[in-house]
Amino acid sequence: MSIATINPATGETVKTFTPLTNAEIDAALSLADGAFKDYRQVSFEQRSKWMKNAANLLEENAETYAKIMTLEMGKPVTSAIAEVKKSASVCRFYAENAAQFLADVPAESDASNSFIAYEPLGAILAVMPWNFPFWQVFRFAAPALMAGNVGLLKHASNVPQCALAIGEIFQKAGFPEGVFQTLLVGSDKVAQIITDDRVKAGTLTGSEPAGASLASLAGQNIKKTVLELGGSDPFIVLETADLNAAVDAAVTARMLNNGQSCIAAKRFILISTIADEFESRMAEKFAALKIGDPMLPDTEVGPLATPGILKELHQQVQSCVQAGAKVLTGGQPLESLGNFYPPTILTQIPEGTPAYSEEFFGPVALIFRVNSLEEAITLANSTIFGLGASAWTTNRAEQERCIRELEAGAVFINGLVKSDPRLPFGGIKRSGYGRELSSQGIHEFVNIKTVWIK
Ligand code: NAP
Repeated sequence: MSIATINPATGETVKTFTPLTNAEIDAALSLADGAFKDYRQVSFEQRSKWMKNAANLLEENAETYAKIMTLEMGKPVTSAIAEVKKSASVCRFYAENAAQFLADVPAESDASNSFIAYEPLGAILAVMPWNFPFWQVFRFAAPALMAGNVGLLKHASNVPQCALAIGEIFQKAGFPEGVFQTLLVGSDKVAQIITDDRVKAGTLTGSEPAGASLASLAGQNIKKTVLELGGSDPFIVLETADLNAAVDAAVTARMLNNGQSCIAAKRFILISTIADEFESRMAEKFAALKIGDPMLPDTEVGPLATPGILKELHQQVQSCVQAGAKVLTGGQPLESLGNFYPPTILTQIPEGTPAYSEEFFGPVALIFRVNSLEEAITLANSTIFGLGASAWTTNRAEQERCIRELEAGAVFINGLVKSDPRLPFGGIKRSGYGRELSSQGIHEFVNIKTVWIK
């Protein structure tokens, strides 16, 4: 895959980039290794000042950065602006809380004094996806850098201008040279980087094969990894749900980022008593969404990021339809030079189709009907994924069962699944392991050092 900006709304190749040579990668790793030796000694106060500068730069230039994202991967510019601001918020969150999260913790033992200290590990490789090109990187970088680590970014090959802009932000914010570096490399160079002794750990957000590849290489070299992979999140609606709120949230949850979000609600599991009503309201709202040029502020659905994603999504839809699924709305790619796919709803989906086992990465809602909570939970859990789950009910007993029995890294009751710097984020099963955000996130890449003094 070449490293290039290709406008997904038009198919035009805007700019291509030359990947780093092996010698340049080697120099970058040496620079990171050297920078760590000094940076680990820098006070929290100083790191925090630089991190707040990064937040200011993001906020002051939100529109400029947002347009780069929209150009490279097609998200509506209004959501892109919100993403830049959210990236600033995670910088502020760790700037303000890192010292407290990583303060020594006293522990009772047979020593006269024993405690736990948290220390940085060194250079951490982050392999990142294109779908939230700023947010995904900042939610890695803010805790990693505040903990005293140094960051190496291998961003997705279709968002090189985002990758370079992020590198520049950390530099302009005042972080010393080598503390955060963008490496313009293809995925073929990830093995060389993660197995290098100067790199101490790795994190990957993306697909399962990519995650498995990074983690196995890291494992062979006894290095820790965090994986944030795919999801096929259930959105369960039960009899007592506020239907207006649930339908609105369902549309937002499925359409976020043109449907290309790991935590997008993908499977809508409806109790049969409310299913007709829910389906018709959802179909009406889907059909009314404004699809078009993502640079326009009122566009709600833009193009998919690449022609490959469009092709795969349509194949998944077609194989469900050929097996007997019904199309409530959408279902055919739009005629355009860009990668536009309309908001689509499938119902009456036969078992054994991709809807039951695969992630649909685009604006396609899959509707399933059930006759009991028991059935809803069984269906919700019947995938290889376990990222998020949303359940809608005002019945306390039903809420409790959903909270305890849904196999997911997060359960949201009467709300759509979202990320928040204050709450841990991550999955179970094949959605990955480890956590980002909150105090848990900053503890992933530190040496939890036991100190015992007599
Ligand atoms: P992808 O192909 O796995 O790409 C993600 C990153 O991994 C890119 O930087 C890519 O580089 C790199 N990569 C690809 N193959 C690799 C390999 N064999 N070894 C090492 N690195 C490799 O993922 P995608 O399809 O673009 O992204 C969508 C997926 O990400 C979805 O499944 C989505 O659910 C998941 N996602 C998860 C989360 C979460 O937090 N759980 C958040 C966002 C997205 P190149 O671009 O150079 O190929």
